[in-house]
Amino acid sequence: MPPAYDVVVAGAGPAGSAAAHVCARRGLSVLCIEEQGSIGYPVQCAGLLSLAAFEECAVSRKPILNIVSGARIVPSFGSALVIDAKTPKACVVDRAMLDREMAMAAADAGAEFMLKNVVCGVKNNHVLTRGIDGKCEIPFKILIAADGPRSTIARFHGMERSPVYLAGIQSEGMYNSDPGLVELYPDAAPEFFGWVIPSGNGRVRVGLCGKTNARHLFSVFIKRIGLRSDLHCVTGTIPLGIMPRTYGLRTLFVGDAAGFAKPTSGGGVYTGVRSARHAAAVAVECCEQDDFSDTALAEYEKRWQADMGRELALGYRLFLMRQHLSVKTIDEMIQVMNNPATIKAIIRYGDMDRPAKIAGVLMRNPSLLHFFSPLLLSGIRSFF
Ligand SMILES: Cc1cc2nc3c(=O)[nH]c(=O)nc-3n(C[C@H](O)[C@H](O)[C@H](O)COP(=O)(O)OP(=O)(O)OC[C@H]3O[C@@H](n4cnc5c(N)ncnc54)[C@H](O)[C@@H]3O)c2cc1C
Repeated sequence: MPPAYDVVVAGAGPAGSAAAHVCARRGLSVLCIEEQGSIGYPVQCAGLLSLAAFEECAVSRKPILNIVSGARIVPSFGSALVIDAKTPKACVVDRAMLDREMAMAAADAGAEFMLKNVVCGVKNNHVLTRGIDGKCEIPFKILIAADGPRSTIARFHGMERSPVYLAGIQSEGMYNSDPGLVELYPDAAPEFFGWVIPSGNGRVRVGLCGKTNARHLFSVFIKRIGLRSDLHCVTGTIPLGIMPRTYGLRTLFVGDAAGFAKPTSGGGVYTGVRSARHAAAVAVECCEQDDFSDTALAEYEKRWQADMGRELALGYRLFLMRQHLSVKTIDEMIQVMNNPATIKAIIRYGDMDRPAKIAGVLMRNPSLLHFFSPLLLSGIRSFF
């Protein structure tokens, strides 16, 4: 019979390793279970992180491949909107290396790792696993579900999930672009956008996300960019919209398992790791007080709500608004924003991780007001 752990973490992505690290550092016995044999693989990410998001991961600078200072937003017609802060704003990382460093930091703090074993169920405060160690039943006091978009644990507990699942697809190749700017193509995917992210040495990651038709849209997009179509593709899912309840039955749901990715960009590392830190802090307190009731676990939801609930809720409204914007309207918005005063405001107030401030500034701009009127009518004014 395996030992009882204070905390079992399912999944060793950034959210799982961050949670395991905090709990182990605070003296709890921690087991992190990962279905893959190698942490960080397969990579399902464009690896673009704001500098704040990278700091949140608390790793060395080794995973950084490139630094970017802004973006070039390319309309279907007319000139591109270039927002260049001329100072580092984000980095492009080797995601596998980042994940491995985070897991190693958790292991150094005392967390145990069990690879090549899949969590396949939960019964009477035990996780059921299957894999290289055979079938195991591992007792826990508290379970942190960091098992990504497909979250077996959420399914097993019958939790209501995120309302939207985007399909993402990406490839990497050589491309001649400004290495300091990310390129965004809103018309490449009618429900989200396409990207070209410079990853250093003339290489770029080209991809897009959408609710439907992602593969077809991607083949059209890479032809437009001029990338070979037979390249190896990375695919993945991004849940958007946080599950209505992120705790219950001695379990805290973090990262993509709970739908923490930012609905404005699909980026989930910053919010996922922050959710994991809140979950870990609450797990430590529950263990100290020997209280694993739903009332004690609810503290987790209060903390992530206070930290980023407003930003994520606004981001989700903006995502819904995006569903109603035609290519023509987006082109118009880009042209209206393409003036020195607006660009200056975007550079000053823009924040990849926390879009409320810049959204508020843009919505107060009289020439942009009518684009946002559906949102304002739906009561979004209360966000600012
Ligand atoms: C195409 C694409 C591009 C993206 N680009 C970016 C980007 O540029 N920047 C950004 O911030 N985010 C990006 N994201 C989102 C980002 O990758 C995720 O939000 C982030 O990885 C979430 O971290 P996580 O730890 O919650 O989940 P994951 O990273 O998915 O980790 C979950 C882990 O759990 C393991 N697991 C799953 N089920 C089980 C099980 N039953 N038992 C044991 N282990 C299990 C998995 O193997 C995995 O290792 C992108 C996503 C996609 C699909």
